[in-house]
Amino acid sequence: MPSSLEEITWQKSLSQAIRDPRELISRLGIPEKLLEPALNTVQSFPLMVPLSFLNRMERGNPEDPLLKQVLPIARENETVQGFSTDAVGDLNVRQTPGILHKYHGRALLMVSGACAIHCRYCFRRHYPYGDEPRTLAEWEPVWKALHADPSIQEVILSGGDPLLLTDLRLQELCQRITEIPHVKRLRIHSRLPVVLPDRIHAGLLEMFQRLSETGTVVWMVIHANHPNEIAGDAEIAIRKMIQAGIPTLNQSVLLKGINDSADTLVRLSEKLVDLGVMPYYLHQLDRVTGVAHFEVPEEQGRELIRELRTRLPGYAVPQYVREIAGEPCKIPLLG
Ligand code: SF4
Repeated sequence: MPSSLEEITWQKSLSQAIRDPRELISRLGIPEKLLEPALNTVQSFPLMVPLSFLNRMERGNPEDPLLKQVLPIARENETVQGFSTDAVGDLNVRQTPGILHKYHGRALLMVSGACAIHCRYCFRRHYPYGDEPRTLAEWEPVWKALHADPSIQEVILSGGDPLLLTDLRLQELCQRITEIPHVKRLRIHSRLPVVLPDRIHAGLLEMFQRLSETGTVVWMVIHANHPNEIAGDAEIAIRKMIQAGIPTLNQSVLLKGINDSADTLVRLSEKLVDLGVMPYYLHQLDRVTGVAHFEVPEEQGRELIRELRTRLPGYAVPQYVREIAGEPCKIPLLG
Protein backbone atom coordinates (compact mmCIF):
# COMPACT_ATOMS: atom_id res chain seq x y z
CA MET A 1 0.00 0.00 0.00
CA PRO A 2 1.28 3.52 -0.76
CA SER A 3 2.48 5.21 2.43
CA SER A 4 1.84 8.86 1.66
CA LEU A 5 -0.06 11.24 -0.56
CA GLU A 6 3.20 11.90 -2.43
CA GLU A 7 3.55 8.20 -3.10
CA ILE A 8 -0.04 7.91 -4.27
CA THR A 9 0.63 10.79 -6.70
CA TRP A 10 3.62 9.20 -8.44
CA GLN A 11 2.05 5.77 -8.51
CA LYS A 12 -1.03 7.30 -10.14
CA SER A 13 1.20 8.99 -12.75
CA LEU A 14 2.83 5.62 -13.39
CA SER A 15 -0.54 3.91 -13.81
CA GLN A 16 -1.55 6.55 -16.39
CA ALA A 17 1.48 5.85 -18.62
CA ILE A 18 0.55 5.01 -22.21
CA ARG A 19 0.90 1.33 -23.07
CA ASP A 20 -1.16 1.15 -26.25
CA PRO A 21 0.40 2.34 -29.54
CA ARG A 22 -3.07 3.43 -30.74
CA GLU A 23 -3.29 5.90 -27.89
CA LEU A 24 0.24 7.19 -28.45
CA ILE A 25 -0.40 7.80 -32.14
CA SER A 26 -3.78 9.39 -31.64
CA ARG A 27 -2.67 11.68 -28.78
CA LEU A 28 0.27 12.94 -30.82
CA GLY A 29 -1.64 13.19 -34.11
CA ILE A 30 1.08 11.36 -36.03
CA PRO A 31 0.44 9.27 -39.18
CA GLU A 32 -1.74 6.15 -38.79
CA LYS A 33 0.70 4.15 -40.93
CA LEU A 34 3.00 4.00 -37.88
CA LEU A 35 0.43 1.89 -36.03
CA GLU A 36 0.82 -1.50 -37.68
CA PRO A 37 4.61 -1.77 -37.25
CA ALA A 38 4.23 -0.57 -33.67
CA LEU A 39 1.62 -3.23 -32.92
CA ASN A 40 3.81 -5.91 -34.49
CA THR A 41 6.81 -4.88 -32.41
CA VAL A 42 5.33 -4.37 -28.94
CA GLN A 43 4.97 -8.10 -28.48
CA SER A 44 8.73 -8.44 -28.04
CA PHE A 45 9.21 -5.28 -25.95
CA PRO A 46 6.09 -3.45 -24.77
CA LEU A 47 5.41 0.24 -25.19
CA MET A 48 5.46 2.41 -22.09
CA VAL A 49 5.42 6.22 -22.04
CA PRO A 50 4.53 8.38 -19.01
CA LEU A 51 2.29 11.36 -19.77
CA SER A 52 4.88 13.80 -18.44
CA PHE A 53 7.37 12.60 -21.08
CA LEU A 54 4.66 12.62 -23.77
CA ASN A 55 3.86 16.24 -22.92
CA ARG A 56 7.38 17.21 -23.92
CA MET A 57 6.92 15.81 -27.47
CA GLU A 58 5.83 17.97 -30.41
CA ARG A 59 2.32 17.12 -31.66
CA GLY A 60 2.18 16.02 -35.28
CA ASN A 61 5.94 15.41 -35.56
CA PRO A 62 6.85 11.75 -36.20
CA GLU A 63 10.53 12.77 -36.06
CA ASP A 64 10.29 14.19 -32.55
CA PRO A 65 13.51 13.14 -30.72
CA LEU A 66 11.62 12.03 -27.62
CA LEU A 67 9.04 10.08 -29.60
CA LYS A 68 11.78 8.23 -31.51
CA GLN A 69 13.15 6.92 -28.20
CA VAL A 70 9.87 5.17 -27.38
CA LEU A 71 7.96 4.42 -30.60
CA PRO A 72 8.24 0.73 -31.60
CA ILE A 73 9.18 0.38 -35.29
CA ALA A 74 9.64 -2.53 -37.69
CA ARG A 75 13.44 -2.20 -37.77
CA GLU A 76 13.59 -3.55 -34.22
CA ASN A 77 12.69 -6.94 -35.66
CA GLU A 78 15.70 -7.07 -38.02
CA THR A 79 18.52 -9.50 -37.29
CA VAL A 80 21.85 -7.69 -37.60
CA GLN A 81 25.22 -9.38 -37.33
CA GLY A 82 27.24 -8.33 -34.28
CA PHE A 83 24.16 -7.59 -32.16
CA SER A 84 23.19 -10.00 -29.38
CA THR A 85 20.85 -10.29 -26.40
CA ASP A 86 23.56 -9.73 -23.75
CA ALA A 87 25.99 -7.36 -25.47
CA VAL A 88 27.60 -6.08 -22.26
CA GLY A 89 28.07 -9.49 -20.67
CA ASP A 90 25.78 -8.90 -17.68
CA LEU A 91 25.03 -12.58 -17.23
CA ASN A 92 28.73 -13.54 -17.03
CA VAL A 93 29.24 -11.33 -13.98
CA ARG A 94 26.12 -12.41 -12.08
CA GLN A 95 27.85 -14.34 -9.31
CA THR A 96 24.84 -14.34 -7.00
CA PRO A 97 21.28 -13.69 -8.28
CA GLY A 98 20.59 -9.99 -7.72
CA ILE A 99 24.25 -8.83 -7.96
CA LEU A 100 26.32 -7.92 -11.00
CA HIS A 101 29.96 -7.57 -10.02
CA LYS A 102 31.65 -6.08 -13.03
CA TYR A 103 34.14 -3.49 -11.81
CA HIS A 104 36.56 -3.34 -8.87
CA GLY A 105 35.11 -1.84 -5.71
CA ARG A 106 31.55 -1.64 -7.00
CA ALA A 107 28.60 -4.01 -6.96
CA LEU A 108 25.39 -3.40 -8.88
CA LEU A 109 22.12 -4.66 -7.42
CA MET A 110 19.24 -5.53 -9.73
CA VAL A 111 16.56 -4.27 -7.37
CA SER A 112 13.75 -3.79 -9.86
CA GLY A 113 12.79 -5.39 -13.15
CA ALA A 114 10.39 -2.58 -14.06
CA CYS A 115 10.83 0.80 -15.71
CA ALA A 116 8.46 3.77 -16.07
CA ILE A 117 9.42 4.15 -19.73
CA HIS A 118 10.54 1.61 -22.29
CA CYS A 119 13.47 3.04 -24.23
CA ARG A 120 13.66 1.20 -27.52
CA TYR A 121 17.49 1.24 -27.47
CA CYS A 122 17.63 -0.30 -23.96
CA PHE A 123 20.75 -2.39 -23.31
CA ARG A 124 18.77 -4.60 -20.92
CA ARG A 125 15.69 -5.13 -23.07
CA HIS A 126 16.40 -8.88 -23.10
CA TYR A 127 17.57 -9.20 -19.48
CA PRO A 128 15.92 -12.12 -17.60
CA TYR A 129 14.57 -10.03 -14.74
CA GLY A 130 12.31 -12.90 -13.71
CA ASP A 131 15.39 -14.78 -12.43
CA GLU A 132 16.28 -12.08 -9.90
CA PRO A 133 15.43 -12.32 -6.17
CA ARG A 134 12.05 -11.01 -5.10
CA THR A 135 11.25 -12.05 -1.56
CA LEU A 136 13.21 -10.88 1.48
CA ALA A 137 14.46 -14.45 1.95
CA GLU A 138 15.74 -14.54 -1.66
CA TRP A 139 17.67 -11.32 -0.97
CA GLU A 140 19.56 -12.79 2.00
CA PRO A 141 22.37 -14.34 -0.14
CA VAL A 142 22.92 -10.86 -1.66
CA TRP A 143 23.55 -9.29 1.76
CA LYS A 144 25.76 -12.20 2.73
CA ALA A 145 27.88 -11.78 -0.41
CA LEU A 146 28.22 -8.02 0.09
CA HIS A 147 29.23 -8.39 3.75
CA ALA A 148 31.80 -11.02 2.77
CA ASP A 149 33.61 -8.82 0.23
CA PRO A 150 35.43 -5.89 1.89
CA SER A 151 36.64 -4.62 -1.51
CA ILE A 152 33.14 -3.31 -2.26
CA GLN A 153 33.00 0.36 -1.31
CA GLU A 154 30.12 1.37 -3.54
CA VAL A 155 26.72 -0.20 -4.17
CA ILE A 156 24.75 0.79 -7.25
CA LEU A 157 20.99 0.35 -7.30
CA SER A 158 19.90 -0.45 -10.82
CA GLY A 159 17.53 -2.65 -12.79
CA GLY A 160 15.04 -1.74 -14.29
CA ASP A 161 14.54 1.43 -12.31
CA PRO A 162 15.24 1.34 -8.57
CA LEU A 163 13.04 4.38 -7.92
CA LEU A 164 10.00 2.33 -8.91
CA LEU A 165 10.30 0.62 -5.53
CA THR A 166 8.09 2.09 -2.84
CA ASP A 167 9.66 4.44 -0.34
CA LEU A 168 9.32 1.74 2.30
CA ARG A 169 11.13 -0.91 0.23
CA LEU A 170 13.83 1.56 -0.78
CA GLN A 171 14.31 2.52 2.84
CA GLU A 172 14.68 -1.16 3.81
CA LEU A 173 17.23 -1.75 1.04
CA CYS A 174 19.21 1.36 1.90
CA GLN A 175 19.18 0.38 5.55
CA ARG A 176 20.68 -3.03 4.74
CA ILE A 177 23.35 -1.34 2.64
CA THR A 178 24.31 1.15 5.34
CA GLU A 179 24.79 -1.77 7.74
CA ILE A 180 27.71 -3.03 5.60
CA PRO A 181 30.74 -1.36 7.21
CA HIS A 182 32.95 -1.18 4.10
CA VAL A 183 30.27 0.38 1.83
CA LYS A 184 30.82 4.14 1.71
CA ARG A 185 28.73 5.19 -1.27
CA LEU A 186 25.30 4.39 -2.63
CA ARG A 187 24.64 5.22 -6.26
CA ILE A 188 21.15 5.25 -7.74
CA HIS A 189 20.73 4.91 -11.48
CA SER A 190 17.30 6.19 -12.44
CA ARG A 191 15.48 7.65 -15.42
CA LEU A 192 12.53 8.65 -13.21
CA PRO A 193 13.62 12.23 -12.43
CA VAL A 194 13.39 12.80 -16.21
CA VAL A 195 10.42 10.64 -17.21
CA LEU A 196 8.26 10.44 -14.05
CA PRO A 197 9.21 13.60 -12.13
CA ASP A 198 6.43 13.14 -9.53
CA ARG A 199 8.66 10.42 -8.05
CA ILE A 200 11.08 13.06 -6.76
CA HIS A 201 9.09 14.15 -3.73
CA ALA A 202 10.20 15.72 -0.46
CA GLY A 203 10.00 12.46 1.53
CA LEU A 204 12.32 10.66 -0.90
CA LEU A 205 14.85 13.47 -0.86
CA GLU A 206 14.77 13.60 2.94
CA MET A 207 15.51 9.87 3.01
CA PHE A 208 18.57 10.39 0.78
CA GLN A 209 19.72 13.34 2.88
CA ARG A 210 19.44 11.26 6.08
CA LEU A 211 21.51 8.48 4.50
CA SER A 212 24.23 10.88 3.42
CA GLU A 213 24.31 12.41 6.90
CA THR A 214 24.84 9.00 8.46
CA GLY A 215 27.94 8.38 6.36
CA THR A 216 26.72 6.62 3.19
CA VAL A 217 26.79 9.31 0.53
CA VAL A 218 23.99 9.01 -2.02
CA TRP A 219 24.81 9.84 -5.64
CA MET A 220 22.12 10.06 -8.31
CA VAL A 221 22.82 9.20 -11.93
CA ILE A 222 19.97 10.32 -14.15
CA HIS A 223 19.51 9.53 -17.84
CA ALA A 224 18.59 12.15 -20.44
CA ASN A 225 19.59 12.01 -24.09
CA HIS A 226 18.13 15.18 -25.56
CA PRO A 227 17.76 18.74 -24.24
CA ASN A 228 13.97 18.62 -24.79
CA GLU A 229 13.81 16.02 -21.99
CA ILE A 230 15.04 18.60 -19.47
CA ALA A 231 11.95 20.79 -19.34
CA GLY A 232 8.79 21.48 -17.35
CA ASP A 233 8.20 19.17 -14.39
CA ALA A 234 11.42 17.21 -15.08
CA GLU A 235 13.44 20.38 -14.76
CA ILE A 236 11.69 21.18 -11.47
CA ALA A 237 12.37 17.67 -10.12
CA ILE A 238 16.06 17.85 -10.99
CA ARG A 239 16.32 21.29 -9.43
CA LYS A 240 14.82 19.88 -6.20
CA MET A 241 17.45 17.11 -6.11
CA ILE A 242 20.23 19.64 -6.51
CA GLN A 243 18.72 21.94 -3.88
CA ALA A 244 18.57 18.95 -1.53
CA GLY A 245 22.34 18.65 -1.93
CA ILE A 246 22.33 15.32 -3.80
CA PRO A 247 25.31 15.02 -6.15
CA THR A 248 23.81 14.28 -9.56
CA LEU A 249 25.35 13.07 -12.81
CA ASN A 250 23.76 12.41 -16.18
CA GLN A 251 24.42 9.64 -18.64
CA SER A 252 23.26 9.64 -22.25
CA VAL A 253 23.38 7.20 -25.12
CA LEU A 254 24.51 8.44 -28.52
CA LEU A 255 21.48 7.76 -30.73
CA LYS A 256 21.16 8.14 -34.48
CA GLY A 257 18.54 10.68 -35.49
CA ILE A 258 18.03 11.76 -31.87
CA ASN A 259 21.15 13.39 -30.45
CA ASP A 260 23.84 12.79 -33.09
CA SER A 261 24.57 16.46 -33.67
CA ALA A 262 26.96 18.79 -31.85
CA ASP A 263 24.25 21.44 -31.46
CA THR A 264 21.95 18.98 -29.67
CA LEU A 265 24.68 17.65 -27.38
CA VAL A 266 25.88 21.17 -26.55
CA ARG A 267 22.33 22.22 -25.64
CA LEU A 268 21.92 19.08 -23.51
CA SER A 269 25.15 19.73 -21.60
CA GLU A 270 24.29 23.40 -21.12
CA LYS A 271 20.88 22.55 -19.72
CA LEU A 272 22.40 20.00 -17.35
CA VAL A 273 25.21 22.16 -16.00
CA ASP A 274 22.87 25.15 -15.63
CA LEU A 275 20.87 22.98 -13.24
CA GLY A 276 24.00 21.77 -11.45
CA VAL A 277 24.11 18.28 -13.05
CA MET A 278 27.44 16.99 -14.37
CA PRO A 279 27.38 15.38 -17.83
CA TYR A 280 29.06 12.06 -16.97
CA TYR A 281 28.97 9.60 -19.84
CA LEU A 282 27.98 9.64 -23.49
CA HIS A 283 27.67 5.92 -24.18
CA GLN A 284 28.34 4.37 -27.52
CA LEU A 285 25.24 2.26 -28.18
CA ASP A 286 25.45 -1.24 -26.72
CA ARG A 287 25.03 -3.70 -29.58
CA VAL A 288 21.85 -5.36 -28.36
CA THR A 289 19.48 -7.25 -30.65
CA GLY A 290 16.79 -4.93 -32.01
CA VAL A 291 18.60 -1.61 -31.64
CA ALA A 292 21.02 -1.52 -34.62
CA HIS A 293 19.13 1.34 -36.32
CA PHE A 294 20.14 3.66 -33.44
CA GLU A 295 23.87 3.10 -33.93
CA VAL A 296 26.15 6.05 -34.75
CA PRO A 297 29.63 5.18 -36.11
CA GLU A 298 32.36 5.65 -33.49
CA GLU A 299 34.33 8.02 -35.72
CA GLN A 300 31.30 10.31 -35.93
CA GLY A 301 30.99 10.15 -32.14
CA ARG A 302 34.64 11.15 -31.76
CA GLU A 303 34.10 14.09 -34.14
CA LEU A 304 31.13 15.23 -32.07
CA ILE A 305 33.15 15.16 -28.84
CA ARG A 306 36.01 17.05 -30.51
CA GLU A 307 33.51 19.77 -31.42
CA LEU A 308 31.97 19.77 -27.93
CA ARG A 309 35.44 20.40 -26.52
CA THR A 310 35.72 23.59 -28.59
CA ARG A 311 32.30 24.85 -27.51
CA LEU A 312 31.94 23.89 -23.85
CA PRO A 313 34.00 24.13 -20.66
CA GLY A 314 35.80 20.87 -19.92
CA TYR A 315 33.48 19.88 -17.06
CA ALA A 316 30.48 20.04 -19.40
CA VAL A 317 31.87 17.52 -21.91
CA PRO A 318 30.82 13.94 -21.10
CA GLN A 319 33.25 11.05 -21.40
CA TYR A 320 32.54 9.20 -24.63
CA VAL A 321 32.77 5.52 -23.70
CA ARG A 322 31.93 2.04 -24.86
CA GLU A 323 31.27 -0.91 -22.60
CA ILE A 324 33.02 -4.08 -23.70
CA ALA A 325 32.08 -7.36 -22.03
CA GLY A 326 34.88 -8.66 -19.83
CA GLU A 327 36.85 -5.38 -19.65
CA PRO A 328 37.63 -4.04 -16.15
CA CYS A 329 36.29 -0.55 -16.93
CA LYS A 330 34.36 1.40 -19.58
CA ILE A 331 36.61 2.06 -22.55
CA PRO A 332 37.15 5.76 -23.45
CA LEU A 333 36.67 6.28 -27.19
CA LEU A 334 38.57 9.56 -27.27
CA GLY A 335 41.63 10.23 -25.11
S1 SF4 B 1 14.95 3.37 -18.25
FE1 SF4 B 1 16.97 2.37 -18.54
S2 SF4 B 1 16.64 0.19 -18.05
FE2 SF4 B 1 14.61 1.16 -18.38
S3 SF4 B 1 14.12 0.82 -20.55
FE3 SF4 B 1 15.12 2.84 -20.41
S4 SF4 B 1 17.29 2.39 -20.77
FE4 SF4 B 1 16.31 0.44 -20.25
